[in-house]
Parts: sequence; C-alpha cells; structure tokens
Amino acid sequence: HIDNLGRYGHLNAFVNVADAESVLARVATAASSSPTDNVDPRSPNGRLVAIKDNICTTDIPTTAASGILKKFKSPYCATVVRQLREAGAIAVGKTNMDEFGMGSHNIHSHFGKTKIQQNGVDRSAGGSSGGSAVAVATGQCWAALGTDTGGSVRLPAAYTGTVGFKPSYGLLSRWGVIAYANSLDTVGILGNDVDSVEGLFDITNVYDDQDPTSLDASTRSHLPTEAPAPSRTFRIGVPIDYNISTLDPTVRKAWLRSLRLLQERGHSLHRVRLPATQHALSAYYVLAPAEASSNLAKYDGVRYGTRAEGKDGTPDSVLFAKTRGEGFGPEVQRRILLGAFSLSAQAIDNYFIQAQKVRRLVQQDFDKAFATPNCLTDSNDRKTEGVDVLLCPTAPTLAPKLSEVQDQKPLQAYMNDVFTVPASLAGLPAISVPVQENESASAEAAGMQIIGQYGDDKLVLAVARQLL
Ligand code: GLN
Repeated sequence: HIDNLGRYGHLNAFVNVADAESVLARVATAASSSPTDNVDPRSPNGRLVAIKDNICTTDIPTTAASGILKKFKSPYCATVVRQLREAGAIAVGKTNMDEFGMGSHNIHSHFGKTKIQQNGVDRSAGGSSGGSAVAVATGQCWAALGTDTGGSVRLPAAYTGTVGFKPSYGLLSRWGVIAYANSLDTVGILGNDVDSVEGLFDITNVYDDQDPTSLDASTRSHLPTEAPAPSRTFRIGVPIDYNISTLDPTVRKAWLRSLRLLQERGHSLHRVRLPATQHALSAYYVLAPAEASSNLAKYDGVRYGTRAEGKDGTPDSVLFAKTRGEGFGPEVQRRILLGAFSLSAQAIDNYFIQAQKVRRLVQQDFDKAFATPNCLTDSNDRKTEGVDVLLCPTAPTLAPKLSEVQDQKPLQAYMNDVFTVPASLAGLPAISVPVQENESASAEAAGMQIIGQYGDDKLVLAVARQLL
C-alpha cells in the first residue's frame, strides 16, 4: 500500500497522508502481535484504512476539501474512526472529496480533482467520496470510509470498480462527521470485496449516545443481526422505473447479466413499480441544499473557518461575506443560495414542503415493494408477494471522461445521482458492486446496486456477495 501511495500520487486521492514511518511502525507492531498465517479477511487489525476528509481525526487535519477549513485540525476524533482504531485499523490518510460532499465527480475540491485513468484517458472517479474509492481501487489502502448523502459512496464505487456500501441511516455514528444534510448523511464503507466492507460495518454498527440520530438500542433489537442462511433463496425485485432510455448499453447488459446470475442460483425475479422515483432527484436537490444552507451557516470566520484578511473595524457583514466568498467554492455557494431560497418565506411551500411530501411518497413506494415491514414506520405486516431486495444499476453510465464532466452544467451533473438518491431519501441500506457485462476477461464492469428494507443490511451484503 505504501508503495502504491507513491505510484498513484498523480491521481490525487489524498488531501493529507499520515507519516509513513509511523504507519509502518504500527503495521510492524500489529504483525508481531498477531499470527500472520491466520489473517481474518474481515478484520482491519494491522491494515491500512483511508478516511474521507469530512470525518474528524485529531492527528491529521480535517478539511472537507474546503478552503474555509483548510487549516482545521479537529480537537476530537469521530466515533467511527475511534471504533476502527480500537479494532487495530491504521489510518493511512485523509481522502480527497467534493467540497463538503457536494458533487458527483470529485472535481469540486479545494485541493484539486481526483481522477482515474483507463487506457491513458482521465475519467471521473465519481463523487463525492472519489478519493476513498481511488485509494481502494489502486491499492493505496485495504479499505476506506466515505460518506453517502445521495450516492457519494455508491457512485464512486461504481466508477472505480470497487464495492461501496451505504448502511441504513442511523446505524453508524455521525459524531465527528462534518454535516452536509443531516437527515440524509450516512457514513459508508468502500473495499475491494464484501468481506472487508462487512468487517468494518460490524465494528461500526453500534449505538452512539453522542449522535442524536443514532438508532436507539431498543429499535436495534428488532433488526436482524445475523446474515441470512446460505441456503435461503431471495425474491429479487426489478424496478422497471429504473430502465430509462438513456441507460448506457453496457450498464443494461450488466444489469441483465446480474439478474440471470441470481436466477441461476435459485433466486426468483419480480417486476416492481416505484412510481415516485421519477420525482426523487428533484426532491433531493431541494432538500439537501436546504439542510446544507443551514448547516454551513456556522462557517463565518468567527466561530469556524479561516477568516478572510480584513482591516480592523470592517463591518461584520463585509467580513462575513468576504470570508464565505473566498472560503467556499462555486458549487457550495450555489447550493447555499439554492437552499436559502427554497427555505425562504415566498418559496418554502412550493419547494421545501413539496419536496418533503415527495420524500414520503418515495419511502412509501419502497415499503409497498418490500416483503419485510419497515420497523420505523411500522406500516404493514409481512407481505408474501413483496420482495427481499431490489436490484438496479448504480448509475446510468460508466465513468465519464473528465473532460466531459468539467464542461457540464450543474443540472447535468445532478442527473448522475438519479439511481442513488431514492434509497437515500428513504434511509435504506444500499450497496454497489461491480458486475461485468459478460464472461470475457476483457469485459467492462458496471456498478450494480442492491437496495434492502430499512435494517436489512446483512441481507443486502449477502446478496452482494453472490454477485462478486
Ligand atoms: N452528488 C450528490 C450531491 O452532490 C450526493 C453527494 C453525497 O452523497 N455526499 O449532493
């Protein structure tokens, strides 16, 4: 991994890397204290884990890839980082991302873009956890933490051919994770296989009393904690609303092939309608910026953030505007304006409130489709005609060329999230795994997404394992 850090430095996956000497010393200590012939494929003990730069660490700065936090060093560590360290993980560095998590191609970073290279062509690494995905894909670490608000772990996983898991909302602690949109923000995990991802999930899936949105112990006790029996066959839902005309042919082939593979293993396929899906993207892009505009108000150069240079006696409003104008990049400024508008007195009814209603419809669509009732809404009993999981592409296309996405209008960039935001709005567990379009060794792989009912995280991971 350390060699790869040097080899792939030009991909810009990291904002800050831990001191190599101390990383190697920790690896040596771990190696001497545990037998090497019995390495658990799920355990992070003695292994290098990369951490997205919006997750706080005391030893390495935490910037959220923003100019406004470029000098920020957190006085405390995020719970998820502490949990992984206690399990023996070694933090190798903080990964690049779209500023505050806002973006789908990792091009909106104060520290420059992250990219992948295929046959000499620069392509999008996906965002916003692009750095974490590239670090995993190029072997600069064993696994990585990301965050997923509307697809930021799953989309980079799809573009880089890695596994990216967004657990059910509220299972992993958000304490020490810089907020983008609280009602959607979820810590996620990236790895090269399902074992590593599940290993980190099992360690971090713990109630945290410091996170007010952490799912309480009594509700957790109703959720399945064990993986389903290997002999169990699943009812796989095929959401036909995701079969859009602009779907890339390779993505469609990989989707059909994954359905065939699961059918050959004895699982059954079922058509599912999710009609509110077509409005999910618009709702997301009202709700997420609205929450962001409120969350980011604290970066004023007084309470938080690098203060702009100004003469003594500068009126507060000027200092505030200058600090935020210089500190935030253009995409973040756009979201703040959009969010402040949709929350304003003249717009809130037509935008924010409508979007909340759409969000509820999206949740209800999913609840109607799944066999298992949603333990949070308690709305219905187990339905024999319902499905266990849904299987659909993670993104409409493969990783686009960087030169194409750089010239895209914001709206075009937002369209990439069309398949990932519905599960985010409903708080559901969802994973992206790479599936080849055919058996040939040179075939291209597309990210396939498995979505489960709230709390069915182990089931989602089990189905993902069958596709890899
Ligand atoms: N691309 C989406 C956005 O820009 C999702 C980002 C995320 O999940 N953090 O909001």
